[in-house]
Amino acid sequence: MSTDGPSSPPYDTGTPSPARMYDYFLGGKDNYAADRAAAEQVKAAVGDVLCHATVWENRRFLQRVVRHLAEAGIDQFVDLGTGLPTQGNVHEIAQEVVPEARVVYVDNDPIVLAHGRALLATNATTTVITADVRDPEAILEHEELRALIDFSRPVAVLSIALFHFIPDDDDPAGIVAAFRKLLSPGSYFALSHLTTDGTPEEELARVVEVYRKATSPIVFRPPERIMEFFEGFDLVEPGLTRPWKWRPEYGPEGPQTDSLYAGLGRLATG
Ligand code: SAH
Repeated sequence: MSTDGPSSPPYDTGTPSPARMYDYFLGGKDNYAADRAAAEQVKAAVGDVLCHATVWENRRFLQRVVRHLAEAGIDQFVDLGTGLPTQGNVHEIAQEVVPEARVVYVDNDPIVLAHGRALLATNATTTVITADVRDPEAILEHEELRALIDFSRPVAVLSIALFHFIPDDDDPAGIVAAFRKLLSPGSYFALSHLTTDGTPEEELARVVEVYRKATSPIVFRPPERIMEFFEGFDLVEPGLTRPWKWRPEYGPEGPQTDSLYAGLGRLATG
């Protein structure tokens, strides 16, 4: 356990964590020496500019998709793999449109709960739970989630920049299916995911190597594999695309890269 933080946090600061590395890439302050060192290795592999562009392109997609969903009448959100609070969090965007919108944040990194609590303490319609998406039942049966989310009405499940941290051995399709089974018609599933098709293979291999020493590995998937996550949902226009291209009418597009794919699926109303 490293002691480079301001106080002694209840989590391991000596092993790089994807949540804290992402925070560092976005320009945040909630990260430690081990996270910064690992993030610098990623930058060295793919380039500073691409790293910065990728995380902001992703974040801007998250904000636009939430605005779109809120404007479409969705007032319940389950945000899987939340990351650290930053500007334009899900509840802030959603509640701008629907003030009573309910948001449950889920992340397996305890730092998210520690920082999320401080940010969300005054918000009765928002909560943060520490849970692992690889155990979807534990999330779906969680008391705090059940107190806020009514699955008999449409819900949006968000998995933004999450599933590239879930290797095939952990059955990512089974995880999505567990959520889908509980959703009622008119519910949504949003996803963004790092891809293999825009960056040279040897650069991606170096990134994989960096995350091998982190709390979670990283897995780049080709677009046809990313498409499989939407099984059982109807893809909303414009389908699976680069995040910056997705519905620019809902807010800033963000930088343009070939790093990711993004899409929004809807459960048919039958
Ligand atoms: N969704 C946010 C943050 C993405 S960073 C955004 O797009 O801006 C990915 C997040 O997924 C990190 O916070 C990491 O801790 C979380 N994560 C990774 N594996 C997870 C797992 N198995 N269960 C829950 N959260 C996970």
